[in-house]
Amino acid sequence: MHKNFSKYIIVGAGLSGLTSAYQLEKAGETDFVILESRDRMGGRIHTNDGIDFGATWFQTHHHNVLKLLDELGVSKFHQYSKGRSVLVYSTMAPEHYFESDPNTPSAFRIAGSSSELIQKLAYALKDRIHLQTVVSGISEINNTVSVQTDKGVFTAEKVIVTIPPKIATRIEFKPALSEVLTRAMDSTHTWMSNAMKVGMTFRLPFWRDKNLSGTVIGQVGAVTELYDHSNAEENSYALMGFLNEGLRDLNAEDRKKRVLEYLITYLGEEIGAFLTYEEKDWSQDWNTSCESIKSVYMSPSYGNPVFAESYMNNRLVFSGAETSPLYGGYMDGAIYSGLIAAQKVCEKIE
Ligand SMILES: Cc1cc2nc3c(=O)[nH]c(=O)nc-3n(C[C@H](O)[C@H](O)[C@H](O)COP(=O)(O)OP(=O)(O)OC[C@H]3O[C@@H](n4cnc5c(N)ncnc54)[C@H](O)[C@@H]3O)c2cc1C
Repeated sequence: MHKNFSKYIIVGAGLSGLTSAYQLEKAGETDFVILESRDRMGGRIHTNDGIDFGATWFQTHHHNVLKLLDELGVSKFHQYSKGRSVLVYSTMAPEHYFESDPNTPSAFRIAGSSSELIQKLAYALKDRIHLQTVVSGISEINNTVSVQTDKGVFTAEKVIVTIPPKIATRIEFKPALSEVLTRAMDSTHTWMSNAMKVGMTFRLPFWRDKNLSGTVIGQVGAVTELYDHSNAEENSYALMGFLNEGLRDLNAEDRKKRVLEYLITYLGEEIGAFLTYEEKDWSQDWNTSCESIKSVYMSPSYGNPVFAESYMNNRLVFSGAETSPLYGGYMDGAIYSGLIAAQKVCEKIE
């Protein structure tokens, strides 16, 4: 049996929701629950077999990520980029090779994989996270907010909704949200909800021995971007990248064949000796995506000011990467919005 009344409810155990929870806990506000539809925490941060199938990289300007990692004692390391990278710009012309400037450091990755950040954030919170709990309705009733789920009703003084705005339109809000807000939610693309990733592990980093970085870039092939994804300790070797969305409708076997053929062409026959091969199509994951997905490659503008307002008499606050005016869509935006949301709910109710 769960305790069905708490001071705060956080909807979503992704990076934003866990950041809010961690922040509330730090402020001594421990009376909250987190409701999460998936059977795991992390949302769009998801690591399997050491491969980050969701968020992976961050840069020196992502101050919120850097600060949080530092505070949690999570190390970072540079994306491997030594050696020659391949640029495939045409199916008719030979590939190009280029080398990264060693004076321009590559992006960072989280040592121990991206899910390490999630595990560390959630370390002290696990007893308050309700997994496999799908929120379907949020109503303001008698100075409280009542949250309907498939596991019963939870009630709180205030609620933070961290679900990507587009899919939060599935929730029935009572009283109904304004048309302006609903329209803004519906038109906010969920960053990377259309992405398909592939990850392969290998016994040895054969590409490094050939002075190849493992980077293969090109919109014309089966894999649009590929990178070395070996671990920080350099004792577990992998390649990870993005699949061409043109392969989405192929069956899994045909797609894999196309991917392997393509990578054999540019990295060598050794590709065929993978230990594991796995794909993740986020467009098929209803906790992130929806029927009307769009292929968006440049980060759209995020942080619509309507998401900065509070609703239901300051009892309902929106958060999440897409609501953030700062690095919207990215991990940094998710953390920033989570910090702001925690601050907002701690303010006095009018
Ligand atoms: C393939 C891919 C690659 C990416 N690469 C990068 C990168 O390299 N660098 C970077 O900075 N960012 C990257 N991102 C973006 C990054 O993952 C996000 O910015 C961040 O993880 C978003 O966190 P969030 O908490 O805002 O949202 P989410 O992680 O989406 O969390 C929302 C949570 O709400 C839950 N939920 C949904 N519906 C319900 C419901 N009805 N009831 C209860 N819970 C619900 C979801 O299951 C989820 O756990 C990538 C994302 C993807 C998918």
